[in-house]
Amino acid sequence: MFQEVWKTYEENELTHSAAHHLMAVHELRTRHGYARISDIAQHLKITKGSVSSAMKLLKERGYVCEDHNKFLELSDRGATVVAAIEAARVAFQRFLTHALGMDEDDAEIDACKVEHLVSAETRSRLTHFLNFLYSDEPAAQAFLEALRTHALEHGAVIATEEVFAGAPPAGVRDRT
Ligand SMILES: [Zn+2]
Repeated sequence: MFQEVWKTYEENELTHSAAHHLMAVHELRTRHGYARISDIAQHLKITKGSVSSAMKLLKERGYVCEDHNKFLELSDRGATVVAAIEAARVAFQRFLTHALGMDEDDAEIDACKVEHLVSAETRSRLTHFLNFLYSDEPAAQAFLEALRTHALEHGAVIATEEVFAGAPPAGVRDRT
């Protein structure tokens, strides 16, 4: 079963590298208004040759197209994928830092590894979980308090005072 899952995934979905190519197009266009092969190569610190072949494939698969200046841009499909990946990264990063008490840098690395792999279902449930965890619900607050105490009693690295002492992480509440 699991073997079938990853095989299907490899065939139909994006590799981690392809996901970062798409995010680069999005970021460069947002920042500068255009994204050329050379800009993407510089942004991702790889050669223009490898960006070219990655982009060829992404164009064939309908994630990327060219604007009237022949500069690269995301298709609707590409834009949808990038938005989903970024939402997943934000949700995971918040989960790892705010719920599990991980260091920001480590959380960013792990979130980067899984961002393009999780389903929309996981992403939305995780966001809902975090919204509840940092809500005014007494049960949620009691849970965080118990988790903090447990971590302190066990000298665990899973939680620190700073993580649980403060207000809810910015932005968690206003996401759906
Ligand atoms: Zn990544």
